[in-house]
Amino acid sequence: METYLLASAFNGVIAQRLAKRLCPDCKQKVDAPASMFQKFNVDPDLANTLKGVGTYYTYGPGCETCNHTSIVGRVGIFEVLTASEKVKQMIFNDASTLEIRKQAIEEGMQEFTSQYIKKGQRGEIALEEVIQAMFDFGQ
Ligand SMILES: [Zn+2]
Repeated sequence: METYLLASAFNGVIAQRLAKRLCPDCKQKVDAPASMFQKFNVDPDLANTLKGVGTYYTYGPGCETCNHTSIVGRVGIFEVLTASEKVKQMIFNDASTLEIRKQAIEEGMQEFTSQYIKKGQRGEIALEEVIQAMFDFGQ
C-alpha cells in the first residue's frame, strides 16, 4: 500500500493504559497531603496543580469486597488521537511521535495525564497512580 493511501484512510489511534481500580468499599480520602508529595518528590508546580483539583483517594486497609488487596480489578485509561489533516500531513512527512503528540494536544486531545487526574478525583484510582503517571509522561 502506498503511504498516501494509508494516511488518507487513517482516522486516528487510541492508546490505552490500565490502572489499579480502588476498592469502593475501603478506599480512603486523602486531601493531597504534603507528605505524599514529599514521598514522591513531586515538584512544587505539579503539587499545586494536584492540590487545585481537590480531593483524592488512596488505598484502603482492605476488606471482604477486595479480598484484602485494596484493589478491585483495573480501569482503562485512554488517549484518543484524532488524525486531522495536519496530523496526517505530519505522519506522511515522518514527524516524530513527540511532534505529533504536541500537535494533537494543541488540537484538543485529552492527554493521559488529564484522564488520570479525572479518574483520581472520581476516586476510581489512587493519588499514587496519578502522581506516577505524571512522572511516566514527564509532566
Ligand atoms: Zn476493600
